[in-house]
Amino acid sequence: MKPSSLKISILMASVLLLTCIGLTEKKTAVSAADLKNWINYLSSDQMRGRANGSPEMKVASNWVADRFREEGLITPPGWNSYIQEYSFASRQRQVAERNVVGMIEGSDPKLKDQFIILSAHFDHIGIKRNAGADSICNGADDNAAGTCTLIGIARTIRLLKLKPGRSVIFAAFSGEESGMRGSRYFASNAPVPFNKVYADINFEMTGHSEELGKGKYYMTGCNNSTLDDVISQFDKKGSIILVDTIKSAEQLFYASDNISFSRLSSKDGISVGIPSGTFATSTLAPWIHTVRDESKLFDFENYASLVDYFSRMLVWLSEKKTPVDWSVKSFARPE
Ligand SMILES: [Zn+2]
Repeated sequence: MKPSSLKISILMASVLLLTCIGLTEKKTAVSAADLKNWINYLSSDQMRGRANGSPEMKVASNWVADRFREEGLITPPGWNSYIQEYSFASRQRQVAERNVVGMIEGSDPKLKDQFIILSAHFDHIGIKRNAGADSICNGADDNAAGTCTLIGIARTIRLLKLKPGRSVIFAAFSGEESGMRGSRYFASNAPVPFNKVYADINFEMTGHSEELGKGKYYMTGCNNSTLDDVISQFDKKGSIILVDTIKSAEQLFYASDNISFSRLSSKDGISVGIPSGTFATSTLAPWIHTVRDESKLFDFENYASLVDYFSRMLVWLSEKKTPVDWSVKSFARPE
């Protein structure tokens, strides 16, 4: 090879290499490494599976509150703390638990008295007896992943100085694995009137990519309301896609905290009628509620791009004038 053509080859190889780096390292405000740090802490063995009523749940709730404070969230209207304490009866004993709730005040004077609730549960099922050497159910994807999605969105909004139009409530719930106790309590003891809540976006199991493929997520209950139709108008040319062909999405609508906003009220079972859905990347995966739900199965790069997407989508949605309607009328907001 002549020296000149060698030079050209090296130049071309360098250009190709730089292009590849550019394509694979799309910068997000919250990196895969940030998420890995958070997840590895929240789903570590020292958390002992975050069982409701355990001392580790108190540690976890304080950790979430510290992250909310660090990202500049304010406490909800009328509250002087991020912590909401409550208790529920389970197997003849009273279990004391805490929700962690923060807020970003909306920037649009006309919309700031309306709210979008972002939610995720941070409890899990604790220790499994007779499971062998590793008996801790770490609950990395269920649901340290959803919890850290909330934290990641708060950080993205802070770092990119994004300004949501409506106010945004960040609610990390305990008690989900004991029958959605935390979100039901919150729904009956909320800091804001529910007729001012535009939608609840709940996050669960957002750490994996092997089931749907990279850059894809789904919403539970996508046939019940127009929430997914509104959201699918966002960033149509982008690389992240809302998949609406997941069979179990209908059934899973009833299996997470979103339902506490759409149907349940711990007072008397009446509808509170807030359009909701759970946003996830896995359905009924074989590692769910087993000791195998660990962060080593995560696709952290994919997870980081989803957190970036959800942050931008939330801000876009917070300015949307289109109301979200129920397709299934039995969920409708009370008159
Ligand atoms: Zn869960």
